[in-house]
Amino acid sequence: MTPLPALLRSMGARLLDIVYPPVCLVCREAVATHDSLCPACWGAMGFIERPYCERLGLPFDRDLGAGAVSLAAGADPPVFARARAVARYDSDKARSLAHRLKYYDRMELAEPLGRWMARAGAELLTEADLLVPIPLHRLRLVSRRFNQSAALARVVSRESAVPLETMVLERVKPTPPQVGLSRTQRAANMQGAFRLNAEKAAAVHGRNIVLVDDVLTTGATVNAAARVLLRARAARVDVLVFARVVEAA
Ligand SMILES: [Zn+2]
Repeated sequence: MTPLPALLRSMGARLLDIVYPPVCLVCREAVATHDSLCPACWGAMGFIERPYCERLGLPFDRDLGAGAVSLAAGADPPVFARARAVARYDSDKARSLAHRLKYYDRMELAEPLGRWMARAGAELLTEADLLVPIPLHRLRLVSRRFNQSAALARVVSRESAVPLETMVLERVKPTPPQVGLSRTQRAANMQGAFRLNAEKAAAVHGRNIVLVDDVLTTGATVNAAARVLLRARAARVDVLVFARVVEAA
């Protein structure tokens, strides 16, 4: 016989499903479990899988063998070591999730997105000592109420058991939105945008760090942040994001 508390709990869960039936995270179609996607949205999510460039995580359209690096990474090597992403930003579904998390305060989305990130970044996370989210400038934080990168990093930390340190980097320059800027303009914009919090220097020295952000566009932001961490003697800096812009690799 089921003990009464367990019975009540399962009744409670069923009641919750009746009041809030599980719906697809993107299109709100009915689905079987909470925090999941319907088959159509899953199929159109643009999940990034191997083969991809080992440095930039950009998908290849054919397998070039283990450890292959894209021309883009060879021509303009990033400051960070490796980047991994869950999905392509040119997928409407992935973009919609990233936008709702960032601009519409849908903080509960950090839970499923962070879990997918922990899976996509599993290789980086097994070698990582520390997770560092890309900080917002404090003025931006006031208007936006929460830092989406920190919210994602919190879930990734819980899923991977890699410690999280939110105060390592400080954003000292309130950078304007980067939309519509060229690659060079973005890099110039981000110059000097971050500073190391001197009190956290010991946490960085000799460590493998994974920078966490929601979206990777040209890499200007994560490169600027990685530069600060490497100057503080981090052993290696990798990058984990939810969605990334995919250019021809
Ligand atoms: Zn759907």
